[in-house]
Amino acid sequence: MVHPLAPPDFDSVELINEVVAERQGGVNAAYFTGRAQEWAERVQGYVHGGGSPAEVPVWPEIEDRKTTFIGLYTHPAEDSAQGAVLDALRAHRLTFCPACGEMGKPNTLDHFLPKRKYPHFAIVPHNLFPMCDACQGKKLEKTGDEDAPKFFIHPYFDRFTSPRVVKLAIDPPYDTPTFTIGPSEDLLEHERTLVAVHLRELAIEVRFTHFFREEYIRLLRLMQDARDGGQNCAALLALFRGHANSISPNSWQHIFYDSVLNNPDLVDYLATADLPELL
Ligand SMILES: [Zn+2]
Repeated sequence: MVHPLAPPDFDSVELINEVVAERQGGVNAAYFTGRAQEWAERVQGYVHGGGSPAEVPVWPEIEDRKTTFIGLYTHPAEDSAQGAVLDALRAHRLTFCPACGEMGKPNTLDHFLPKRKYPHFAIVPHNLFPMCDACQGKKLEKTGDEDAPKFFIHPYFDRFTSPRVVKLAIDPPYDTPTFTIGPSEDLLEHERTLVAVHLRELAIEVRFTHFFREEYIRLLRLMQDARDGGQNCAALLALFRGHANSISPNSWQHIFYDSVLNNPDLVDYLATADLPELL
């Protein structure tokens, strides 16, 4: 699930100043020079406001030139200041999507505040982070609505009082259980609200139901093998959970095994019941 990231090692305001300086002598020199100060202030405001759409305003005065701003992202000139930053952001070494926890290298950069609505943040490093295709397909241009002004967790800015933000419930019958995910009860109320809307807007429960079911089938086989070999099921489960926790407390495998171990009825079922052969 959600993995916080260290903020990018770039000064977003300084980058704006460099980009404006590089425009000098070009056709857009006067335009960017005239907006340089406000642009830098708005980027500063983004960083101070943690990128929240509830706090960071749009910039209607640049609407007629938004393709110019977006072009800095989509077609950076060779050796441009922002081109080097974008290359560095794309060269990350993540092995999971920070928004949903899907394993594999997330191969796109997401604009936390979408570039068509906020073109002045199109090249801002603090507005860009790796994301998987499935999350991008769900997030699209969404930012929030009246009920929830902020839909998504910002991996650079949002921090929670509990390292585990999501809870998985595995409910009986244990031969064919149901899986439900929701915000962790360890979180504060406003944190739970944000996690809940993030889960909903990225359709995370639906997308990961298949994973839970396959993981559960694998668990039944492992527990049967453990019992056949005279091993202690609970001890083995704790070992699996510890391994998953070493990846991240918010890795789906850790959430899965944590859910199993916090459910005494399920642990008892795994240790003593006639386990079905699920396919
Ligand atoms: Zn994702």
